[in-house]
Amino acid sequence: MVDDKDLKDPDKDDHYEDICYICRRPESKAGKMIHIPNNICICNDCMQKTFDTMNNGNMPYMDIMKLDPSMMQFSSMKNEVPKSQKLKKKKENKEKQEATLDIKNIPAPHIIKGQLDDFVIGQEYAKKVISVAVYNHYKRVATNTMDEIQIEKSNMLMIGPTGSGKTYLVKTLARLLQVPLAITDATSLTEAGYIGDDVESVLSKLLAAADNDVEKAEHGIIFIDEIDKIAKKKSTTNRDVSGESVQQGLLKLLEGSDVEVPVGATSKNAMVPLTTMNTRNILFICGGAFPELDKVIKSRLNKQTSIGFQANLKDQYDNDPDLLSKVTTEDLREFGMIPEFLGRLPILFTLQGLTKDMLIKILKEPKNAILKQYQKLLALDEVDLEFDDDALEAIAEEAIKKKTGARALRAIIERFMLDIMYEIPKDDNIGRVVITRDYIENKGAPLIEMRGFDKKPVLLLDKQEQEEPTA
Ligand code: ADP
Repeated sequence: MVDDKDLKDPDKDDHYEDICYICRRPESKAGKMIHIPNNICICNDCMQKTFDTMNNGNMPYMDIMKLDPSMMQFSSMKNEVPKSQKLKKKKENKEKQEATLDIKNIPAPHIIKGQLDDFVIGQEYAKKVISVAVYNHYKRVATNTMDEIQIEKSNMLMIGPTGSGKTYLVKTLARLLQVPLAITDATSLTEAGYIGDDVESVLSKLLAAADNDVEKAEHGIIFIDEIDKIAKKKSTTNRDVSGESVQQGLLKLLEGSDVEVPVGATSKNAMVPLTTMNTRNILFICGGAFPELDKVIKSRLNKQTSIGFQANLKDQYDNDPDLLSKVTTEDLREFGMIPEFLGRLPILFTLQGLTKDMLIKILKEPKNAILKQYQKLLALDEVDLEFDDDALEAIAEEAIKKKTGARALRAIIERFMLDIMYEIPKDDNIGRVVITRDYIENKGAPLIEMRGFDKKPVLLLDKQEQEEPTA
């Protein structure tokens, strides 16, 4: 929920806390600041220390007091702390009440799922699980019952092939609920002190997404993608700074604790202001493709069924499309996730790989489907764009071959729509274009219908021009 005043002037300085020039603590921690010329603020403690040092005849901070505006050539010096590192002031009590979530305003799970249905095709089970989990999470946040009856946090672990809609699902959800969302990649994280981002950087990103408003960020969602890449390395003698150690580091965030977060930076250092964030009400969703996990599941299932009279054939799970949905936490442990980490992600679910039918639906059904976007573009030129069912099948078949899920769709469509978007505006008489399977497969041309004439196939371009560029 965005404050009206903030909307009008989000950059207004009044909305940000002052930060001490010397110790870099924000006003909320260090108390009221003393303002000295050149936009410099100093907290009482540091001011006192400065006077004490001066009285001892030793003046390390005197250069600040002597600074002359004309000497300040660099804008960064004039405005001592960049805006990205400033924190929003805590709200007054009255405003605070408005900002907290109201239990009556949390949409029920079936409404959340209904809204997700408008955008995300298929993945019925995942949408159901996520709707219930989110509903329970925000209900817990709103009623604050964590202290009395311990309702467990509904952090989630989402497993699904690449391009099956993991990120899209979370993005859509955050938009519907109007909560800040940070999407980060587990591969960039390392143990503190090593090259890479500290685990706290995921909170910094959320804080930035919430416009540096700590309270808003504390109700947000963090999506950590590629979580399978921080699996424990097998049989290594070196310190596992980007695997097991990162899982260990994330534990305290997932569970809910007060964490010191660098503001506007990805690691803690002396020049970055810090703030404290409580992660108790932040919803963490981890996602990953977990390649090779199917082998782990298969070997477990085969072990279970290979003994006794009821022993099954060894290859019975080889072509099982739902193998991934049979995953258990034991399989994930075998994969390299540590038990403490899995324990803090109690909701485990999988997304299906996209089938041909689902890909066709993704092309045409969601509210902002790719085809609808192109139809709208051409409608502005008063041209109808249509796709044969056969053509849609051809696009879906080509996308399946690329093995990158729904991501391949856009690339394929952009390739052949380029010619259409280039040629059509040349001729004002064109009223309708029908994309056919032949056109997608480079065997023919789209059907062009002139205004007031009969439909007849017209070759838009030379055959040579239509050929796919060699990658
Ligand atoms: P990943 O599972 O690798 O995170 P993404 O969520 O980034 O995949 O999906 C890539 C794109 O594919 C999305 O931006 C979205 O447009 C489209 N997409 C993927 N799955 C679906 C789906 N089930 N319904 C609608 N669009 C989808």
